[in-house]
Amino acid sequence: MTEIWEVFALKYAERNSRTRNDSFLLDDNHNTPHEMDYYLWLLKSPTRTILVDTGYDTAEGIARDRPVEIEPADLLKRFGVAPDTIDTVIITHLHYDHAGSLPAFTAATFHLQEQEMTYATGPCMCHDTLRQPFSGEHVVEMVRRLFDGRVQFHNGSSTIAPGVEVHLIGGHSRGLQCVRVNTRRGWIVLASDASHYYENFLRQKPFPIVVDLEDMLTGFNRLESLAESKNHIIPGHDPLVRQYYPSEHGDNSVFRLDIEPSISV
Ligand SMILES: [Zn+2]
Ligand SMILES: [Zn+2]
Repeated sequence: MTEIWEVFALKYAERNSRTRNDSFLLDDNHNTPHEMDYYLWLLKSPTRTILVDTGYDTAEGIARDRPVEIEPADLLKRFGVAPDTIDTVIITHLHYDHAGSLPAFTAATFHLQEQEMTYATGPCMCHDTLRQPFSGEHVVEMVRRLFDGRVQFHNGSSTIAPGVEVHLIGGHSRGLQCVRVNTRRGWIVLASDASHYYENFLRQKPFPIVVDLEDMLTGFNRLESLAESKNHIIPGHDPLVRQYYPSEHGDNSVFRLDIEPSISV
């Protein structure tokens, strides 16, 4: 028996001092400004709450000169969810903006692709370029959770709960996974960084942070095959999500994704 989930995007930061060069490989308009949002996602069924990614905190934001608007843990509290009550956290990948603040989730089991942990703790991290999107502290915190018996690894596709699946995509990070969720409008796919923007998957335009370009391009097609339609794919960092989906109870940081978008992509 599958369940029907409500799905929320929680925006905790944005960064506007970037250009299209930072978002698309080989873009013609590379100097045009291009903004980025930072989100985590919350899934709610009548009986369960699942968090997808944990964002980054104030200290990480200061270190990278990318301040948060609100700490992800505080945003969850404002939304009525205490971080220490969440028992299931899916980490799409271990990049700094998806896997911070792990100690706040004291009751959680973390669901991660085996390949992501192997990648983030292996010889590829000898290279500055490949290491840059990771925080060593975040990876160490995940290793601590592993030794506390609170990490569950997946290898490809898995069901986390009835109506919630993870699927290995890779490309942008070796063990990047997307999340497929059954909602009242059908199966939607939280792409996370398998497609930062709508434009990445709609125009098949690779994002410049990439480990395996072929996997990234194949991943765009995989998102489409997993989702009910293109309108059911939610990119991981696109400010358009805030235009296409309604805010919840007037909170301009929380957006409802299980409702049809206002436009067709
Ligand atoms: Zn990433
Ligand atoms: Zn990201």
